[in-house]
Amino acid sequence: MERVYNFSPGPGMLPEEVLAQVREEIPNWRGSGMSVMEMSHRSEPFQSILDQTEADLRDILNVPQDYRVLFLQGGGNLQFAMVPLNLLGRKRVADYANTGYWSARAIDDARQFCRVNIAASSEDTGFTSAPTQAQWRLDPRAAYVHYVSNDTAAGVEFHWIPPSGDVPLVADMSSNILSCPIDVKRFGLIYACAQKNLGIAGLTIVIIRDDLLGRALPITPRMLNYKLHVDKGSMYNTPPTFAIYVAGLVLQWLKNSGGLRAMEERHIAMSSIVYDFLDSSTLFDNSVQKSDRSRINVPFTLRKRSLEEPFVHFMEERGVVYLRGNLGLGFRASMYNAMPIEGPRRLVEAMREFENKYG
Ligand SMILES: *Cc1c(COP(=O)(O)O)cnc(C)c1O
Repeated sequence: MERVYNFSPGPGMLPEEVLAQVREEIPNWRGSGMSVMEMSHRSEPFQSILDQTEADLRDILNVPQDYRVLFLQGGGNLQFAMVPLNLLGRKRVADYANTGYWSARAIDDARQFCRVNIAASSEDTGFTSAPTQAQWRLDPRAAYVHYVSNDTAAGVEFHWIPPSGDVPLVADMSSNILSCPIDVKRFGLIYACAQKNLGIAGLTIVIIRDDLLGRALPITPRMLNYKLHVDKGSMYNTPPTFAIYVAGLVLQWLKNSGGLRAMEERHIAMSSIVYDFLDSSTLFDNSVQKSDRSRINVPFTLRKRSLEEPFVHFMEERGVVYLRGNLGLGFRASMYNAMPIEGPRRLVEAMREFENKYG
């Protein structure tokens, strides 16, 4: 069967090279006589996989020496609670940017533990823009500043790093990590689930600066304590071994594909193909402010709602799948790192054909 172009918001596509290598190594990982799935997480072969994966991630993202890298579980969602539990310390307030679906979830969980100051919001534009730099109102008593660098649902991306003063900046980069170079030093903590740009579901990456460790609230369950995971080298319990292995292969692929600069160029190219078409279309619309458009997730609507069902069917017949937006919000084309440039080309070609036929 031919492979399709998967525009799902997550999990995303994997590079074909990675799939081929997984297939080859499944029965017998490099002469170990077993698959990674069967391997003890305490074995030497698995430790080498974990070490290499961490080394490659540090290398690609240029992670400074005073930051730890953790391989955790629970998805982006568990970080919404782990961040306040671990970073509040003696403080009782945290700053949050309210920029859409995911930030709302993060705010809801933080409210279980502290007062949330909405330091910036794009609610007034219906989450179709990022708050401007001048709009931020930080609380001087805040323990940290939290924002979502790319709202996967709204298709709004920060193309700059928000101000946080002397307070640690925390970023949910679940949908745009590894899509462009970032200056890790500007952040106190970065987290991202793996199934969009870094492999498969089950793994969450946390990058945390040393000085933020060891201030977890006394009520923090052990599994939710960053310090414990650092002390145990992400091996307090059984880590998601297979997902770490796949992430390692994806990172190797990313290095061989030219690193983050090359990824950034590809994301600019891929998203431009789709935005250029949408901006010239008479049938499809994107309402996100141009300066804040995501290079990863492109939401769009059909001006004739009665055409939605036929559109989905039309696209599927052409190997373009999972375009439906969530919560009845029209459509969305998500293009993670492993999406080939032929994906958006095929997408736009098919949309143009549909427009000519029904528009
Ligand atoms: C996908 C996503 C999440 C949630 O990740 P899960 O692994 O499903 O918990 C969180 N934040 C953002 C920005 C996302 O895109």
